Amino acid sequence: MTEFPLDERNRVRRLPERGWYERDLIYQIVDEALYCHVAFVQDRQPFVIPTIHARWDDTLVLHGAPASRLLKHIQAGEPVSVAVTLLDGLVLARSAFHHSMNYRSAVLFGRGRLLAAEEDKLRALEVLTEHLAPGRWKDVRRPTRQELKATWVAAIPIESASAKVRSGPPKDDAEDYALPIWAGVLPLQLVPQEPVADPQLGPDSAAPDYIVHYARGGSPG
Ligand SMILES: Cc1cc2nc3c(=O)[nH]c(=O)nc-3n(C[C@H](O)[C@H](O)[C@H](O)COP(=O)(O)OP(=O)(O)OC[C@H]3O[C@@H](n4cnc5c(N)ncnc54)[C@H](O)[C@@H]3O)c2cc1C
Repeated sequence: MTEFPLDERNRVRRLPERGWYERDLIYQIVDEALYCHVAFVQDRQPFVIPTIHARWDDTLVLHGAPASRLLKHIQAGEPVSVAVTLLDGLVLARSAFHHSMNYRSAVLFGRGRLLAAEEDKLRALEVLTEHLAPGRWKDVRRPTRQELKATWVAAIPIESASAKVRSGPPKDDAEDYALPIWAGVLPLQLVPQEPVADPQLGPDSAAPDYIVHYARGGSPG
């Protein structure tokens, strides 16, 4: 299935021409983003928690400490909604009203479960680590049994999803184009800086290539 089916939950209502349901596009956004916000409701109280995520095929993986309210919620089989946002630029229109942002965002829905088998948890932690820094897993000390026990890992099959994308210049009202006001886009990007070595490393340890040349996707501007 290349598209998520449209229903009342995932249909983009405002500016529907910016809504997309293709798995490839949604997964690109999920894969480029370093973190997401997970929303859930407990006893009629909504919560939104920022957390690291990674995609494992059609499943979203999260991890955390056993006491986490979110992971307990997932363990109970309750639904979550996940927002993933990539900010690509500020859109500066001639009118205050038409100011906006260029972005690529996705909203996902699903119910998950906690992984129990050691090998599944280990594989999910590899996926999470590689999501942060591709190439990292082969270099790190693997989790011990004790560490694995102390880490809850949730797998949430992505049941439904949508993407919303804005790109391009501002869209002003026709009569405003004649105004002598600068308008355009200020592109924004997540740009890695020079790696800072842990002072406890010896003077001869160079950062690995995947850190020196770290990059995450490309924004359409
Ligand atoms: C970029 C990013 C990545 C993160 N990645 C992970 C991860 O992979 N795994 C993980 O377990 N945690 C992660 N965290 C921390 C996460 O947001 C929660 O703080 C944590 O999962 C749950 O903490 P808790 O059980 O104490 O809070 P909960 O019991 O879930 O929350 C209790 C209350 O604490 C407050 N609270 C909780 N978290 C935050 C927060 N981040 N900021 C402000 N107030 C908060 C809220 O008021 C919340 O209602 C990440 C945070 C950020 C910002």
